[in-house]
Amino acid sequence: MLKLKPYIEDFISLIYPHTCISCGDLLPKGTQDVCPKCLYNLPKTKNHIIPVPQFLQKFEGIVKVEKLYVYSYFQKQGIVQKILHELKYNDNPDIGMTFGRYFGKDLLTESEIPPFDLIIPVPLHPKKLKLRGYNQSEALANGLSQALNVPVNKNTLIRNRHQNTQTKRSKIERIKVMSETFGVTDSNIKGKHVLLVDDVLTTGATLISCVEQLHTLKPKSVSIAVLAGVK
Ligand SMILES: [Zn+2]
Repeated sequence: MLKLKPYIEDFISLIYPHTCISCGDLLPKGTQDVCPKCLYNLPKTKNHIIPVPQFLQKFEGIVKVEKLYVYSYFQKQGIVQKILHELKYNDNPDIGMTFGRYFGKDLLTESEIPPFDLIIPVPLHPKKLKLRGYNQSEALANGLSQALNVPVNKNTLIRNRHQNTQTKRSKIERIKVMSETFGVTDSNIKGKHVLLVDDVLTTGATLISCVEQLHTLKPKSVSIAVLAGVK
């Protein structure tokens, strides 16, 4: 039987050429969203090899985080902001899966990672989930899950309410507000190594609240993986 699919795909890409979301160049066949050149220039933190103190300091003395993994630095107008925008506002969960896989592959090949038992994405409020159609952190978690061969758990951590922009609050105030935002269900994570996943690390208030909640269930350890971090 004649395989039509590749021909149809070629034909479609002639009419609707796929371009890099960062530089706008045509994407070579077999690539998606970001061209190889932009991918090469991605500002990776590599903090799994040499820890970045500015990231660790966001959690120090507040909650115990076993390992903190930050894939790339967040820069305004930079490629990472474009990836995040695509992931959150352009109905493209696939880009989250793709970068989750890249991230997982880097971690596996470049460092010793704890024997994770489960990956938990930071949940969205159900209303927001309905609006967006998917949870961007879950898309990343699914990609990481594929690369690390660790299952995703969506039932343990729950979001009780949606928290809007809190830019005017101090960090302590934010943590206090966020601590009422998340909750846990009585799921069996006791004694397990957990990897918590979110898209961006800014003040750390959201992740701190999630880690606090998870610790109430007595896991063996809680680590964090985020796609982008603000120093
Ligand atoms: Zn590009």
